Amino acid sequence: MQKSIERISGDSEGVFYEFPAFRFTGADKAAPSGYLQSALHAGELPGVVAIDALTPALNKAEAEGRIKGNITVVPWANPIGRAQYHFGEHQGRFHLGTRTNFNRAFPLLAAPDTALLPDTTFGTADQQLKTRLLQLSIGHDIVLDLHCDDEGLAYLYVHTSLWPAMADCAAAMAIDAVVLWSEDSDGTFEGATIMPYQNVPAGVAKFERRVVTTVEYRGMLDVDGRLAASDAEGLYWLLVARGVIADPALPAPGPFTGFVAPLENIDMMPAPRAGAVLYDVKPGDRVAKGARLATIVHTPGEVGGRTEVFAPQDGVILTRRARRIIRAGEDLLKLVGDKKSADARSGTLED
Ligand SMILES: [Zn+2]
Repeated sequence: MQKSIERISGDSEGVFYEFPAFRFTGADKAAPSGYLQSALHAGELPGVVAIDALTPALNKAEAEGRIKGNITVVPWANPIGRAQYHFGEHQGRFHLGTRTNFNRAFPLLAAPDTALLPDTTFGTADQQLKTRLLQLSIGHDIVLDLHCDDEGLAYLYVHTSLWPAMADCAAAMAIDAVVLWSEDSDGTFEGATIMPYQNVPAGVAKFERRVVTTVEYRGMLDVDGRLAASDAEGLYWLLVARGVIADPALPAPGPFTGFVAPLENIDMMPAPRAGAVLYDVKPGDRVAKGARLATIVHTPGEVGGRTEVFAPQDGVILTRRARRIIRAGEDLLKLVGDKKSADARSGTLED
């Protein structure tokens, strides 16, 4: 394993950021390569500890000569967000200097060619970071961006063009749900990773084996040794199943047993009032149309001080908020409906 230190210049003199990248060199040039990154949203840590738990298996495979394809691992993908504290609270989702989401505004290239990227020293610190992360990841056949939700199931965002070809990956990772998306005008990392391939002619074998996904490893508080160990096993199994690592002891993954839904089926459920949230449901619950999902206590102690929110259709609760204070219009939860949502915002990748 080789470790390199990537350096990003800050937005003022004397400030810079560093993050490590680890590389394993594959023995077989024709084997698929893998790129794993976590904590792009810098406070989302289940992927960080999963990668930490995975590393001994990668080192063992390397020592035994079983690494076939090149592997690049970036466990702390966002040193800028990692250092952002505002009045004692960590802020890892948006760059405080520009108010831009760290998982938006990635350069969208016309082809998978790092020569098309802007200069990595160009722009604000967050723009430099995005360019550098794409530069590190482009060219890999398998690109996994590890995130988490507030509270949630383990689920994947997958572009429609890669499904069901990636069902074995979802099975290997023991994922609960897969959300299929088709449009990304916002430049998420996943979108910027997959869009350059949209102009590649069909039938090119190298591109047909691609795996690209945003992995939502449950919730912010699911940073847990046992989950990290099982997630690491899942990541390892994926790498073996796709030929990046050789491990004859492992069978092929079985069928994917989670559920799959298009993004258009997700109801985001905005809160009608501001207040304290009393949830009736948790991630994984199946609900029927009309079932009460939550009650907002907005004027406590007064008649009519509560407002209830009901399921607009049958479905499964995918996520809910970790905090119980809410403003009017903020999303209470994600309900994966059995049918298309009436919510006009649905359709684009919403990590
Ligand atoms: Zn995230």
